[in-house]
Amino acid sequence: MSEVAFWFRRDLRLDDNVGLSYACSKGLTVRFFFIFDPRILDPLPRDDHRVSFLWNQLSHLGRELQERGQLLQVWYGPPSEVWKTILSLYPKIQFVVCNHDYEPYARERDEAIRALCQQSGVTFYSFKDQVIFEKSEIVTQNQEVFRVFTPYKKKWLSRLTPESTKEARVTWSSLPPLKGQGAVTEKVRKRGSLSPIFLCSMEDIEEIGFKKSQKIPKEHFFHDEVLRYYGRRRDYPAEEKGTTRLGLYLRFGLVSVRQCVRQALRLKAYDWLSELIWREFFMMLLYHFPDTVNRPFRKEFNSFPYRYQESEWQRWCAGETGVPIVDAGMRELNQTGYMHNRVRMIVASYLTKHLLHDWRLGERYFSQKLFDFDLSANVGNWQWVAGCGVDAAPYFRIFNPSIQQKRFDPNCEYVKRWVPEVFSSSYPPPLVDHSFARQRALSAFQRLPKGYVK
Ligand SMILES: Cc1cc2nc3c(=O)[nH]c(=O)nc-3n(C[C@H](O)[C@H](O)[C@H](O)COP(=O)(O)OP(=O)(O)OC[C@H]3O[C@@H](n4cnc5c(N)ncnc54)[C@H](O)[C@@H]3O)c2cc1C
Repeated sequence: MSEVAFWFRRDLRLDDNVGLSYACSKGLTVRFFFIFDPRILDPLPRDDHRVSFLWNQLSHLGRELQERGQLLQVWYGPPSEVWKTILSLYPKIQFVVCNHDYEPYARERDEAIRALCQQSGVTFYSFKDQVIFEKSEIVTQNQEVFRVFTPYKKKWLSRLTPESTKEARVTWSSLPPLKGQGAVTEKVRKRGSLSPIFLCSMEDIEEIGFKKSQKIPKEHFFHDEVLRYYGRRRDYPAEEKGTTRLGLYLRFGLVSVRQCVRQALRLKAYDWLSELIWREFFMMLLYHFPDTVNRPFRKEFNSFPYRYQESEWQRWCAGETGVPIVDAGMRELNQTGYMHNRVRMIVASYLTKHLLHDWRLGERYFSQKLFDFDLSANVGNWQWVAGCGVDAAPYFRIFNPSIQQKRFDPNCEYVKRWVPEVFSSSYPPPLVDHSFARQRALSAFQRLPKGYVK
């Protein structure tokens, strides 16, 4: 009898999961896999907090599957090599099922696995799961990609039906439990110890060359109350439950986006829904313009006169610029792996406009630190703040950090939490005077080719 392989990636949950629902619907034996890819892991520090988090979530997922009489196999190795091994170990596998991943490398990887499956006579199925609308589902009347958020959002909302957010139920009862799994597992592990491909026992994270990180993320606040008051509280970084902290959970698919949208609609939390639409807007853009990972969306920006000063860069990273709200944000990021959205905008604006440093530096820094790092959202937002992205903030909008602080942290609660010495003589003066920096940024923008500055 044929078997199905389900490949977990950014969808580490057993409910409301489109690909998984399909894999489990055939009444066939399903084998469950996750692959640690050295191409993604190799550049990371050995105590990377996201890897630690992922390891814990996989252990949890493994236990949940066990309760259902199933087994999660976690492999380490280049995905093509791993799949070659899996398909030869389990010749009954006829279908490999997963959910779409839209990032440039993931698309390349999936094409390679699709081809590999084809050569082996196996069918590769991938489903939309991570978003409500993907790729080219929301386009202009001329079938073009939207480059401005507001009309994209309008079209997105107009296309939304109960079907778009319908739960993808997974039926476990018809699934045959796995038999004799232990013996196979042992055989593979022994083989694996000699090669760069191996099956992890999930006993210790050191198996994949990492250590446990001390950084542990906060639980999310996907609560009705947070959603209800989101519009009012979202901009105040001192508010403990002003936003949901779902970024990380959406990133790894621990929560279904359909569930999020259903909840937003039920509670009429339209401001929050709008943020979920931003998430899809940036995912759609990265899909169509994959090279924007490294280059500005607006070509005029190729000649932008960036500066670079090592000491300024280091002080920005460390949260020692002498600008309280910037320093609070950077210290929060460094210590916890999280930063409030309003503060992300302020620190990004400070780096790219006050200090005139290249947005790519800031984007890379965030990618190493954020728990909720997501390539499309990070690149999209950095470019948006820097003024070189799609639908970017106008160039003359240069945040004044002290006004931002007065508006959004009027009692200095957030700032004092992260910069306790802020009112003492040991706190340094600002790196750069605001009026001078503003003027310098405006003249840099005005030197851009015609078309950018109208
Ligand atoms: C410079 C900069 C870099 C950013 N980098 C990332 C990143 O790497 N990963 C990331 O998920 N978000 C990023 N954001 C967007 C936003 O700051 C975070 O999504 C948000 O702060 C996460 O907090 P939350 O989970 O409480 O979100 P909530 O405010 O509760 O929003 C719910 C969800 O909507 C999505 N969302 C919210 N705002 C945005 C947005 N502006 N763009 C895209 N999606 C959004 C996220 O998935 C978020 O979890 C960045 C913003 C800026 C200004």
